[in-house]
Amino acid sequence: MSQGLVTASYIVAAVFFILSLAGLSKQETAKNGNLFGIIGMAIALAATILNPATSGVEWIILAMVIGGAIGIRLALKVEMTEMPELVAILHSFVGLAAVLVGFNSFIDIQPHEVSEVVLVLGQDLHTTLESAKAAFVEASQVQQAEHLTGAMLNIHLVEVFLGVFIGAVTFTGSIVAFAKLRGLISSKALMLPHRHKLNLLAVVVSFILMVMFVQAGGAVTPLILMTLIAFAFGWHLVASIGGADMPVVVSMLNSYSGWAAAAAGFMLSNDLLIVVGALVGSSGAILSYIMCKAMNRSFISVIAGGFGNDSAAASGDDTVGEYRETSAEDVAEMLKASDSVIITPGYGMAVAQAQYPVAEITKKLRALGIKVRFGIHPVAGRLPGHMNVLLAEAKVPYDIVLEMDEINEDFSDTDTVLVIGANDTVNPAAMEDPNSPIAGMPVLEVWKAQNVIGFKRSMNTGYAGVQNPLFFKDNTQMLFGDAKDSVEAILKAL
Ligand code: NDP
Repeated sequence: MSQGLVTASYIVAAVFFILSLAGLSKQETAKNGNLFGIIGMAIALAATILNPATSGVEWIILAMVIGGAIGIRLALKVEMTEMPELVAILHSFVGLAAVLVGFNSFIDIQPHEVSEVVLVLGQDLHTTLESAKAAFVEASQVQQAEHLTGAMLNIHLVEVFLGVFIGAVTFTGSIVAFAKLRGLISSKALMLPHRHKLNLLAVVVSFILMVMFVQAGGAVTPLILMTLIAFAFGWHLVASIGGADMPVVVSMLNSYSGWAAAAAGFMLSNDLLIVVGALVGSSGAILSYIMCKAMNRSFISVIAGGFGNDSAAASGDDTVGEYRETSAEDVAEMLKASDSVIITPGYGMAVAQAQYPVAEITKKLRALGIKVRFGIHPVAGRLPGHMNVLLAEAKVPYDIVLEMDEINEDFSDTDTVLVIGANDTVNPAAMEDPNSPIAGMPVLEVWKAQNVIGFKRSMNTGYAGVQNPLFFKDNTQMLFGDAKDSVEAILKAL
């Protein structure tokens, strides 16, 4: 494949990636969006492998076969509820890759390494045609390295330093996010004394190390010291963010992983990697911004490790009074007597896989002439769009699935609200208690309806670890049990 064809393929792949992002922005076009992404990635991989400058193709193919086999197995096995963990751990791989590429790039520009490579090349050029081809490629890299002097060398050193920094922060940050989402560590915010000063110190010291690194023309000690600091910084940054802010963390790490890939693209002089990294980085940043707006959080405060979020320390998980229990039969009667019903699903619906009986109930109630709609909180579940995906899977019509902003005013005119496995996203404490860790977060105002049914297994708190006064209100009744069993029991009674 000629170099020109490789470049053309990269441009076509980049266009497919842009089409993919556009497709993924709407449920109706999401399938096509995925398909475009797959086509773009296939073109990118083929062009990279067939690029004449690529050497060691057999190793690349071996790595792809092993990686692909693990990826396919994991993707087939993963439950919908485990998707955010999978995404978090995948981000950590991108971060680690950027660190490794950075160190590799650094080793490449070391003068003694260059001379060794030149020696090896000298012998290679007299051997087989194949090794001559590989030698040619390496020789051009060596030439490139030898030409890196003055400003170009400095720029390359800054690329390496920043690439390793972003990669290291993404790596440990994503591992902490994975552990929090998987429940291996507490989802509550870690509140180290002087934590903001520690963060600031890490950034300032890293900057000083970068200056030392560049001034020395690429010294290994500042690079290693900064890598260790960045590992600790990434870990602390995510550890100090509370459970309710995790959606922003996941999309923020998504953005970081994009910038880490773009940095690797600069180090490897690979245009496609730069374009794709920038696409992921900027779309992740936009998503983080949207999530922050949806949760009424300051973007800066969240990416700075929960800065200004000290009230989170005062988590309230105490019981708040008496609650009332109900039965599936009574709920069925209540539904039949209703003119309008809103269903607000949450993480528990995903755990129970209750979306299928929920879709059945919806069909049945609509057939009885009852107006049924869904209210979706932007951070319901454990990943952006989680509930929309589940409801689409169960074939619930899109036009009755409304966003929080579209439905919040309608609760006061609604007869019955079914809160199916949702907790934080329907917690009035967000609006009523300024000391709550979720204070200020807009929520679905379900308590304004005539009747509210809470589907849960116990009185345990939601992901943010905060007790929910909704379940103790006079117009709320609890239907305890696995959400799927409860909804199926109602369906039977209907
Ligand atoms: P929550 O996590 O607040 O609550 C889920 C509720 O479901 C729990 O109270 C639990 O109660 C109940 N539940 C669990 N399993 C079952 C089951 N099998 N049957 C019935 N009930 C069940 O859910 P929300 O969706 O309201 O809120 C999402 C939370 O997750 C927010 O805090 C959000 O910030 C956070 N988050 C969101 C992400 C995103 O991108 N959307 C990413 C990461 C975090 P019980 O145990 O008593 O049954």
